[in-house]
Amino acid sequence: MAELRLGLPSAFSRARPCSKDLASAFPREQQLGRKRVSGSVRASALLELVPAHVSKKDLNYELLRFDVVKRKAVDLVVVGAGPAGLAVAHKVAEAGVNVCVVDPAPQSVWPNNYGVWVDEFEDLDLLDCLDYTWASAVVYLDDAKEKTLERPYGRVNRTRLKSKMLEACIANGVQFHKAKVKDVDHNPSKSFVTCEDGTLIEAAVVLDATGHSRRLVKYDEPFNPGYQIAYGIVAEVDSHPFDVNKMLFMDWRDSHLHGNKELMEANSKLPTFLYAMPFSANHIFLEETSLVARPGVPMDVIQKRMELRLKHLGIHVRSIEEDEKCVIPMGGVLPVIPQRVLGIGGTAGMVHPSTGYMVARTLAAAPTLAESVLQRLGGSASTHIPSRPQNPPNVESSAPAQEDEALSFENGSGPTGDELAAGVWASLWPLERQQQRAFFCFGMEVLLKLDLAGTRRFFDAFFDLQPHHWQGFLSSRLYFMELIGFGLSLFKHATNYARAEIIAIGTVPLARLILDMTQMKPPKGSS
Ligand SMILES: Cc1cc2nc3c(=O)[nH]c(=O)nc-3n(C[C@H](O)[C@H](O)[C@H](O)COP(=O)(O)OP(=O)(O)OC[C@H]3O[C@@H](n4cnc5c(N)ncnc54)[C@H](O)[C@@H]3O)c2cc1C
Repeated sequence: MAELRLGLPSAFSRARPCSKDLASAFPREQQLGRKRVSGSVRASALLELVPAHVSKKDLNYELLRFDVVKRKAVDLVVVGAGPAGLAVAHKVAEAGVNVCVVDPAPQSVWPNNYGVWVDEFEDLDLLDCLDYTWASAVVYLDDAKEKTLERPYGRVNRTRLKSKMLEACIANGVQFHKAKVKDVDHNPSKSFVTCEDGTLIEAAVVLDATGHSRRLVKYDEPFNPGYQIAYGIVAEVDSHPFDVNKMLFMDWRDSHLHGNKELMEANSKLPTFLYAMPFSANHIFLEETSLVARPGVPMDVIQKRMELRLKHLGIHVRSIEEDEKCVIPMGGVLPVIPQRVLGIGGTAGMVHPSTGYMVARTLAAAPTLAESVLQRLGGSASTHIPSRPQNPPNVESSAPAQEDEALSFENGSGPTGDELAAGVWASLWPLERQQQRAFFCFGMEVLLKLDLAGTRRFFDAFFDLQPHHWQGFLSSRLYFMELIGFGLSLFKHATNYARAEIIAIGTVPLARLILDMTQMKPPKGSS
């Protein structure tokens, strides 16, 4: 039985990607003449069950508001109250530093259904933030072959995780401002964050944690990711065929498409799989997923395939509690390193380029970033001194700036401005992390080129690897030399056909990887 640790979340919010996300996911789709046929999709029996309106659930906390009249300067402005932003905010504030989080909906429950490997959350001491766990996971490669992954998996209780982070923020005096950030300007030692409501916040450091909207960090090359596209539902069903003791990590079977030559061929070229978390015999999260494609597989295609799959599996959906349209940019260039605005999470290239996972990696990186900021700001050791907020270059003040009492950074003799930011970026993206990411991007380039048969061969070899290798790859725990060992081992486990295939499609990306490696240097600001 799936173990119910904390009970079901009391309410669900419905995920709706912002239109900008979707638009950016399908830029070339339009050029290629593909269309999103929302009309026909809406008419489908499955989508008819999606509630027309589900009110977004807000957590009920008394947040300390940023005082827009006094406009006191702060040490750190965190833009975005997602997992990445809040994880850093409370860690930095714990050391007695002034932090302000800006988000249009800081109390909203996060919309995405997060799944993680249990050991990742155990390492983070966050086991209490999983509401379901499964002792193992299963992968169906085709109708004849399945693999059991002996690694416990969990569903994140996002209400609990966000509550825990908000409580830590409140306890440590983090201020909140409910708004969207429009822009940021800098002078040599300070930054000035302008919000869409006209509020101006002065800070020593600004962190962009706006997720995949990448609001403030800058890129000097075109962002060229692959896209993971998925459609997921939390549903009440009459029954389902899955073992409730195992989560379904990947189901690559395509028998549901046998009756439709066109869909079958399309799926052979650009395959999708089912990911499922069976909570009980009648309650389940089901998600049809395109692992990675460039451009992304259109959402309506994913939904159509899911509908046919569920019908084939005999899953009759009684009701849908929530649905999520998932668009995750994967890989692509890193932001400029270093740059004045700091970045973490989706905004800063932390999504695993071969899997689309990110939560555990980001939560593990947050203390590193926090520590690095604190080292430079002086942390709790500083005696706060008065600061005089000044107008930024080219920004008109809407209200007179008032004298402020507390800025840790003005007290110390440590670095400020660009120098401070360079040191923090270097701690977040040291050479070995950049090399690791380059290898994962190479993995993504290979996956992008595999059809269904090739994908099956790839995962057949991948999940035959030693747990150290496949688990380490999925959880970003392998560094460069180990990744070479991983690659050689994968090659050894592959069939002759799969080896020839990997050589054929992997040679050019491998040459690019080697070239990238030779040009990589420790980032500026590394100690
Ligand atoms: C549907 C979906 C499912 C996913 N499932 C998983 C999973 O199972 N496991 C996993 O590891 N990863 C998963 N991911 C990938 C990744 O972990 C998530 O995208 C994660 O939410 C990223 O966290 P974040 O804090 O970087 O950004 P977000 O969670 O996107 O948070 C960004 C915050 O910034 C705010 N914001 C945006 N713009 C502004 C602005 N201009 N001013 C102020 N605030 C702003 C937003 O309101 C939001 O609160 C999933 C992603 C999606 C989209």
